Amino acid sequence: MDTYMTFTAYGDNAGEALEKAEKEIHTLESEWSVTDENSEIYAVNHSNGNVVTLSEDTAGVVSFALEMAKETDGALEPTIYPVLTAWGFTTDENRIPGNEEIQSLLSRVGYEKVELNGQKIHLPEGMELDLGAVGKGYAGDLTAEIVKESGVTSALLNIGGNVQTVGSRPDGNDWRLAIRSPYGDGEVGVLEVSDCAVVTSGNYERYFTGEDGKRYGHIIDPKTGYPVDNGLASVTIVTEEGKMGDALSTSMFVKGLEGAQEYWKSHEGFDMILMTEDGEIYLTEGIENNFTLTDSFSNMEKHIIRR
Ligand code: AMP
Ligand code: MG
Repeated sequence: MDTYMTFTAYGDNAGEALEKAEKEIHTLESEWSVTDENSEIYAVNHSNGNVVTLSEDTAGVVSFALEMAKETDGALEPTIYPVLTAWGFTTDENRIPGNEEIQSLLSRVGYEKVELNGQKIHLPEGMELDLGAVGKGYAGDLTAEIVKESGVTSALLNIGGNVQTVGSRPDGNDWRLAIRSPYGDGEVGVLEVSDCAVVTSGNYERYFTGEDGKRYGHIIDPKTGYPVDNGLASVTIVTEEGKMGDALSTSMFVKGLEGAQEYWKSHEGFDMILMTEDGEIYLTEGIENNFTLTDSFSNMEKHIIRR
């Protein structure tokens, strides 16, 4: 998954649980990688329009990604890969594609053109699937499940910044999770939570600076084909399931400050922290009392979003 992972578990069965968890991650990676020639996603992307049968886990994550694409009105777009490639994010040979090229690639994008029936998938020729925006969160859920099945009641799974908590800290208190600054080094605040997923998206994670001096990030606005540039620096989602957190962090980042608030007001089951490029922070009311700014960020302008 092109990232670092740190798993911590407490209690008698911790060792065994972590071994199983690591194994699970490697299995999922081998099924979901876009670049591994043996992966299921690779097979779909090279199917030339033929139907491919997926494993249960892969069908599950694809089905979820398609559902969330619909739910977010296409802000989450699991077929954005051709555009991502044009910007060089898949090879690290970054470039700024021309507008014509982008428009022509956008004709190969559109989640609604993907047909999934049970475990059978049909992807039209020329299109490509990429689970980059939901895979880590989904893997977090499956891994948390395995850890729990081993009898562990307290664990922290960090999958490239997607944090999945199992239960609370061994002493019964909430986990204290540092929220990274999207403005440079350091941490903006500490979030105290139990039994949930905390997932962050931002352009500061992967970006390049173009010859025009502008910063281009790895999250693409599917409506334009250009990297998101809407004034948001990062979005953190706090919710029960990692897959939901992952899908929402990416899509709320695409929707922007106004769009994300609107979405939150009409959807239950999650809280969020939005940070803007000009240094303001917005928290939804559900986590108002669980979040504390660190000393170095204590003068950030803080807003509470209420229903
Ligand atoms: P995340 O770090 O979860 O926000 O996911 C970002 C990754 O998802 C990128 O590195 C791309 O692989 C992919 N991606 C970029 N833009 C989108 C989008 N609008 N919808 C779905 N996936 C995207
Ligand atoms: Mg995501």
